[in-house]
Amino acid sequence: MSTAAVELLESTPVHTGVQLPIYMDNHATTALDPRVLEAMLPYMTKIYGNSASRNHQFGWEAEQGVDKAREQIAKLIGATSKEIIFTSGATESNNLAIKGVAEMYREKGNHIITQVTEHKATLDACKRLEKNGYNVTYLPVQADGLVSVDDVAKAITDRTILVSIMYANNEIGTVNPIQAIGKLCHEKGVLFHTDAVQAVGKIPVNVLTDNIDMLSLSGHKVYGPKGVGALYVRRRNPRVQLSAQIDGGGHERGMRSGTLNVPGIVGLGEACELAMNEMESEAKRLSGLRDYMKDKFLNALDYTYVNGNMDHHLPNNLNISFVYVEGESLLMGINDIAVSSGSACTSATLEPSYVLKALGLGDDVAHSSIRFGLGRFNTREEVDYVSDKLIDTVLKLRELSPLYEMVKEGIDLEKVEWTAH
Ligand SMILES: *Cc1c(COP(=O)(O)O)cnc(C)c1O
Repeated sequence: MSTAAVELLESTPVHTGVQLPIYMDNHATTALDPRVLEAMLPYMTKIYGNSASRNHQFGWEAEQGVDKAREQIAKLIGATSKEIIFTSGATESNNLAIKGVAEMYREKGNHIITQVTEHKATLDACKRLEKNGYNVTYLPVQADGLVSVDDVAKAITDRTILVSIMYANNEIGTVNPIQAIGKLCHEKGVLFHTDAVQAVGKIPVNVLTDNIDMLSLSGHKVYGPKGVGALYVRRRNPRVQLSAQIDGGGHERGMRSGTLNVPGIVGLGEACELAMNEMESEAKRLSGLRDYMKDKFLNALDYTYVNGNMDHHLPNNLNISFVYVEGESLLMGINDIAVSSGSACTSATLEPSYVLKALGLGDDVAHSSIRFGLGRFNTREEVDYVSDKLIDTVLKLRELSPLYEMVKEGIDLEKVEWTAH
């Protein structure tokens, strides 16, 4: 960044009334809700038994806590408690679903369908299977980020054993046509897994009406603790079988061995119950704040575009490209705000986000994109601070942008013949 840019950014007016830095990165993780901590604490000190200990009080009490959590989680997604398998998080849930089905149904076929904008936990599990002789179809997405049900239908062959399509995207907040994809899979006799980490607790999710066979969720994305998650595994119509990926002890119906993280599980359960009770009002509040922020950006700035599809969208997500500003300078200009950019740090270089590239965005536009992830603890004052600061920074950076100046003068950048220097 030039010294002129640094000086301009440092002249940004100071706001008072909000506590800095502001956290607006709730797709990456969420703060633990104090009510969840409250529910967990007894299980860290007094009720410390191993929930697999069947012959004494300590074990029974721990098991009761786990059973209650199973009910709370199952209720939120329309499942039964026996269908909930506890894991260390959604990365493990995705791995267990995908590799577990692949191994169990190898005789039936070796073809798996997913999409290019999945979380790395899904993509990398699929890549591993490709090395082991499986065929994986990575479906493209449309310019609005949604996968086409037609494309899924066309990709299914008589060798297909699994379709894995995420419920909602963690970068651009798009909500896929899950119900239709699930229906299609059931008609074709193919198992359907969905990574619902960003959807569960934010929008209504029901494994029965959505025709879902396996569903991944994670504690720390729903104001619960880190390091705990679950995989829903359907027990009837059809009964899904999975090859365990971790052996030993035979916990969790033999699908996932290992002593259960009792306090974490109790926290995940409590987080799900809170989400169940508060989802509707919270979604209303957050989508209101989100739309307010979006309108502020679009009213104040030109060459500013919303990514994704606002008609099929998470209430707490806003992903915006501020064209003609350099991504790195933009982030430096707003360094008292925690958001994510359209760049991913891979080794030493900044790579544009593969999700934004899948929408057809150019590298520069992807780099100049920001993901705002609103959460339970964000206030209207914070939203005002963030949007004002963003607008101020973009305006200042564009003052220094020769490209922006040329565009404003009506020069068609496509036709400019650049000279090397
Ligand atoms: C965060 C996230 C994951 C990974 O969950 P962990 O519990 O952190 O392993 C998987 N998928 C999506 C969509 C996510 O946002």
